[in-house]
Order: sequence, then structure tokens, then C-alpha cells
Amino acid sequence: MEDLVSKIIVANWKMNGSGEFIHSFFSTFTNSTDNRLIICPPYPYLSQVKSHGVTVGAQDCSQHTSGAFTGDIAASMLHDMGCSYVILGHSERRQYHAESNALIREKAHAALDAGLTPIICVGESRAIRESGNHIETVLNQAKESIPSGTGKFMLAYEPIWAIGTGLTASESDIAEMHTALRHLLPTTPLLYGGSVNKENAKTIMSTPDVDGVLVGGASLKPDDLMAILDFKTPLGNR
Ligand code: PEP
Repeated sequence: MEDLVSKIIVANWKMNGSGEFIHSFFSTFTNSTDNRLIICPPYPYLSQVKSHGVTVGAQDCSQHTSGAFTGDIAASMLHDMGCSYVILGHSERRQYHAESNALIREKAHAALDAGLTPIICVGESRAIRESGNHIETVLNQAKESIPSGTGKFMLAYEPIWAIGTGLTASESDIAEMHTALRHLLPTTPLLYGGSVNKENAKTIMSTPDVDGVLVGGASLKPDDLMAILDFKTPLGNR
């Protein structure tokens, strides 16, 4: 029988959901305790999602530990809430909140200090891809955003033009980028994100050097998320 290995699935719910939505989601979703799954709901719903036995992550944290930073949330507070992970540097934070690589690195250090595992996002715009500089751009983003030292983190490659657009990078585009990232980060779990769904997840998760996926839109549909969790891929492709 073929040896099978499972991949990491990070569900990014972005600013979606409500108490009622979560109640209804978990009346269908039966994989709550699957240890490959991390659900990242908006801050106010972390406890409600966690109460279903799911490993939870936040979608951002402050670089500061405490103080006069109205509206911000410290990594230690997320840890107190039972969070184990935090997404950092998502392209929507980079774009709408002007987050720089240096800031993301600071946040990553704050997360590690609080006992959270950062999931650091990188990815190129369509213009950069068309210019042919995508590998160099993403490697630089990664080098400048990841924490220094030995703290453990995950890296998610998310081409901006594939997020929420229904466009997915091709298998060879993903393989090319993940091979380059693997040279830089030999032991870091590497995730792919960008319009992952139940139709394309198996192919993406079977691509060399892809250790898992970061799923946005499809992760809000319990049946689709269960279908994605159903895939197992052969060992030895990383
Ligand atoms: C994301 O939230 O990072 C993402 C990849 O979203 P989607 O799957 O909807 O493209």
C-alpha cells in the first residue's frame, strides 16, 4: 500500500462570518478535530470556533506587546484566547494597511515571543509576474519578512493575482516558486494560496515542495472544506 502523508490546510475566513454562520457551519462540518486544519476566523469569533475543538489562528497581530495602540491586538492576547497560529503579511494587509516587510518581521518576532506560530504570506502582483521578476521579488519579500533566529514559522506563497479571483497559478508556476523557496528555507512548511478549491486542491497539494494550502473563499463552505481535507498525497514529493 502507498504511504500517505497529509498536508496542512489553513482556512482564512477574512472578515466574514457571524455567530449564526458559525453555528450553522459546524452543524455540517465534521472534521473539527483534524490536526491538519487551522481555521483563522475574525478575532471576535476565535473562542466560538475553538469551542468546536478546532485549532485556531488569528489573521494579524500587533508588533507591540501592550500600550496605547487603540484597536490593535497583542500576540499574547491571542495566545490567551487559545490561538496557536497567526497569519502575517497577507496581501490584503500589505495593500490596505501599507504593511512593509520590516513590519511583518517585527510582528513575526512578537508572535514567536508570545508562543504563536506565524504563517507569513508573500506573493507577487500581476505586473511583477508579467515583468518576469516574480522569483526574485518573492524571495526578497520572504528574506525580509521572516524572523531572524531559530523560531518556527510557515510561509505561504500567494500570488496576489490569484487571491479571490478564481485564477490559480499553474502547477508549473507553483512548482517553480516553491522550488526556489525550498532552496531558501529547506525545513519550513511551504503553503500555496490563491483560489484553492475542492476541484484543484488535490493537484496543488501533490505539487513538489507544497506542504499545504491556505484557502480563503472555499473554506467558508463546510462541504468544500471537508472535500479538501479528504485529499491525501503520496510521501516523497518534497
Ligand atoms: C486568501 O485568503 O489568502 C486566499 C487565498 O483567498 P482565496 O482562496 O479566496 O483566493
